[in-house]
Amino acid sequence: MKIPMLDLKKRFENYRDEYLSAIENVVSSGRYILGNNVKDLENDLADYCNVKYGVGVANGTDALRIALDALGVKEGDEVITTPFTFAATADVILHTGANVVFVDVDYDTFNIDPKEIKKYITDKTRCIIVVNLFGHAADWDNIKKEIPSNIKIIEDNAQSIGGEYKGKKTGCFGDISTTSFFPTKNLGGMGDGGMIFTDNEEYADICRKLRVHGATKKYYHEYLGYNSRLDELQAGIIKVNFGHLDEWTQKRREIASYYSDRLKDYVKVPIEKEGVKHVYHQYTIKTDKRDELKKHLEEKGVSTAIYYPVPLSNQPLFESAVKGDIKTAERLSREVLSLPVYPELTDSEIEYIVDSIVSFFK
Ligand SMILES: *Cc1c(COP(=O)(O)O)cnc(C)c1O
Repeated sequence: MKIPMLDLKKRFENYRDEYLSAIENVVSSGRYILGNNVKDLENDLADYCNVKYGVGVANGTDALRIALDALGVKEGDEVITTPFTFAATADVILHTGANVVFVDVDYDTFNIDPKEIKKYITDKTRCIIVVNLFGHAADWDNIKKEIPSNIKIIEDNAQSIGGEYKGKKTGCFGDISTTSFFPTKNLGGMGDGGMIFTDNEEYADICRKLRVHGATKKYYHEYLGYNSRLDELQAGIIKVNFGHLDEWTQKRREIASYYSDRLKDYVKVPIEKEGVKHVYHQYTIKTDKRDELKKHLEEKGVSTAIYYPVPLSNQPLFESAVKGDIKTAERLSREVLSLPVYPELTDSEIEYIVDSIVSFFK
C-alpha cells in the first residue's frame, strides 16, 4: 500500500461537478478580480467566525503582513511569537523592520505558553502573533490575562479554521485574525489565497486599502500598500470547499479519535484540552523513537512529515531575534511526527497506518 500525506486529486474526483461548475461560472462571467465570489466568501467566513469583517487577500502570509501594517507595527517595535510554527508567522515581522521575540511553547498543545509571555514584554512590545497550531486553539483566556491592552493581538488561524475555544469558533480571538487557503489547509483552494478577519471597522478599512496599493478610491493613494487580492476563481473554488468544511472536520476528528484509541499505549497522542474543538490540521504524535518510526513507515509505504524539524529561533534567518528559553520547542522538534489525517482516507488505509505503527513497537 502507498499512502500519501494528502490526496487532493481524490478530492477533485469526489466533487468534480461542483468544482467545474464553480470554475465555469467565474470564467464565463468575465469578472476575475474582486467580484461577487470574493464578497460572498468574505461575508460567509466572517459570519462563520462570528466577526464583522472579512478581507480576502492573495495568501496567508500577506494576511499577516497586512495585519501588522494595519496595527502600525514598525521598525524598532518588538513582536512576540512562537518559534514552533511555519516560517510565515515570523518572517512577516522581519519585513516590517520590527524585532522578533520568540517565546517557548507548551509541550502538550504545541502552542505558545502563556506563563512564558510576561517575561518578554518590554516597553517596545507592540504586538503578539499567536498561532492555533495543528488545529488546536491556543490558551486564549490565559494569554489575554498576561497581555496589557496596549499590546495588539494577531491570531494566525491558518491551520485551525472551524476549530473552537470555549464555544466560540477560532478566528475571532485577535484584534485581527488571519487564515490561509493554501491547498493543503483544512479550507484550501486550488492555488494561493488568504483572509483577514476583524470586528474593528477601521482595521478592516485599512486592510481593504492595503490590498490595492493603499488606494482610498481608484488611483488615489493614501498608504504604502500591496497588490494582494484573492481572485474570483479561487474564491469560487473555496466556496465549494467551505460547503464541505464541517463534514471534513468531522471526518478528521473521527480518524484522530480512532488513531488515539489504538496508539495511546505506544506513543504520546495529541490532546484536546477541555473547551477546545480540535480540527486536526495535523495529527501529531510524540516519541523518542521518531526517526526510526518514520523510516519504518516509509518502508511500509506510509508517508509522514516532521512539523517542525528546527524551531524558527534556531534558523539563520532569525539570527537577530530575541530568543527566550525555548527548550520545549527544541524537544518537540526531536519528537514530533505527523500522520496522514485527511477526510479522503479509506478505512483500510487508516487500519493499515495504525497496524504499521503498532508492529514497529511490538
Ligand atoms: C500556511 C501558513 C501560513 C501562510 O499561509 P500561505 O497562504 O502559505 O502564505 C501562515 N501561518 C501558518 C501557521 C501556516 O500554517
